[in-house]
Amino acid sequence: MARFIFITGGVVSSLGKGLASAALGALLQSRGFKVRLRKLDPYLNVDPGTMSPTQHGEVYVTDDGAETDLDLGHYERFTGVPSRRSDNVTTGRIYSTVIARERRGDYLGGTVQVIPHVTDAIKDFIKSDVTDEDFVLCEIGGTVGDIESLPFLEAIRQLANELGRAQTMFVHLTLLPYIPSAGELKTKPTQHSVKELLSVGIQPDMLMCRSDRPIPAGERRKIAQFCNVREEAVIPALDVDTIYQVPVSYHEQGLDDQVCKHFGLTGMPMPNLARWNHIVERIRHPEGEVTIGVVGKYTSLLDSYKSLAEALTHGGIANNVRVVLKWIDSEAFEREDAVHILEPMDAILVPGGFGERGAMGKISAVRFARERKVPYFGICFGMQMAVIEAARDLAGLPKASSSEFGPTDEPVVGLMTEWLRGNQLERRQADGDMGGTMRLGAYDCHLTPDSMVRDIYGAAIVNERHRHRYEVNIHYRERLEAVGLVFSGLSPDGVLPEIVEIPDHPWFVGVQFHPELKSKPFDPHPLFTSFIKAAIDQSRLV
Ligand code: GLN
Repeated sequence: MARFIFITGGVVSSLGKGLASAALGALLQSRGFKVRLRKLDPYLNVDPGTMSPTQHGEVYVTDDGAETDLDLGHYERFTGVPSRRSDNVTTGRIYSTVIARERRGDYLGGTVQVIPHVTDAIKDFIKSDVTDEDFVLCEIGGTVGDIESLPFLEAIRQLANELGRAQTMFVHLTLLPYIPSAGELKTKPTQHSVKELLSVGIQPDMLMCRSDRPIPAGERRKIAQFCNVREEAVIPALDVDTIYQVPVSYHEQGLDDQVCKHFGLTGMPMPNLARWNHIVERIRHPEGEVTIGVVGKYTSLLDSYKSLAEALTHGGIANNVRVVLKWIDSEAFEREDAVHILEPMDAILVPGGFGERGAMGKISAVRFARERKVPYFGICFGMQMAVIEAARDLAGLPKASSSEFGPTDEPVVGLMTEWLRGNQLERRQADGDMGGTMRLGAYDCHLTPDSMVRDIYGAAIVNERHRHRYEVNIHYRERLEAVGLVFSGLSPDGVLPEIVEIPDHPWFVGVQFHPELKSKPFDPHPLFTSFIKAAIDQSRLV
């Protein structure tokens, strides 16, 4: 029977609860346990798919096609365990399930209430799809004290009661702010946050205290006393120089030891952290540096490109170089000449995106990379813009466009209304719902023999995650290939272009899918490894 660890956050948001959860998952895994990580989000959207990336950060897509919170990306990168639809839920989804049941008459005339109906649905979710896992870690989004998170806290309180304390654990992440005028780390916000948790019936078993400096023994003792937690279970969670140091550093502070102790797991072997130490070593001591220009429009919140930034770092780890990312607002190119911004870059990447705003700037960035023979990586929207650029400038189709931008005579990129998922036909209407209706999740892609990508992957068929509503129109294939843009990856039925490349260029690849979602620090994605290698070669040229 799985043990459940509930991770809540207090004092302020953005404390790195997702990373802390991912690191704890990785530590338990490195002790030989099987883990799953889940995120419970208290907002009312059914999933984050309809939210702006600049509000909520990246939408992380799972193999089974769920649009989920970006923390699932941390979980997957740290543990290598593929996330599933059943690993993320929101208040919106819980309520839509409960309301659908009510409409069906499932509640047999009863009054439908937060307790027990909503809390039961939350508990069902937490316990669902768990088989032989030793630990299920559930992170509760938001900050304790938010109105929105109350049903979730009530549900985990009930669950701990039902399953017993031997099978459940409450971990609370807080902040110890340093007050320079007093020269002290302050414990009061942590005390208040624990009080808040106690008011809903939850006594934390462990505190993880974020702090920018070591926590003096006296303060640790004080927190333990006031918050009714064993002193060793007050874990200093200090700032570190790279996120991949987090598991190592939290282990040194006793995190996984204390979790094992809580569950009575004595005599456990120490975790093997060799792979984390290796990654940290590589990040701290690179042999060189490359600069990648990322031309997007969500650059005001870097969480919008979380997995992308990580995957580029992984490409750097594989090549032993530091990857410096320059975030470039694509609209800048619409105001001024792009050249001086792009010239210092060793390679250029245009990531995923939506809508016409900023598209012209992305097309200018593609043109610069293509003409100057600077390595170019186009991901999803970045691939679509590369195809439009080639159609306009090489294939003599000046009106080439995407139907995402409005009606066009040359829909080189067009709305997908049907496609195959395995043997099943998926259908969409132009005026259908926006939420959860894109081509989502993992699909196979067949690579053309003798192509660059075939060589990079070292495989004939790959499986990658998608999130798009528009696609490159296969009917333009001949005209584009005639001018040097090769369609080197296609859906198994040969209808959907998945990859384009320019053989007569040092490195020019556009992919319709999101390879960044599958990259791991200890297993960098081959496209990112190869792209960074091309950037290194480019940096040696200039
Ligand atoms: N907006 C484009 C589409 O829906 C690209 C999506 C993306 O980049 N994720 O097809």
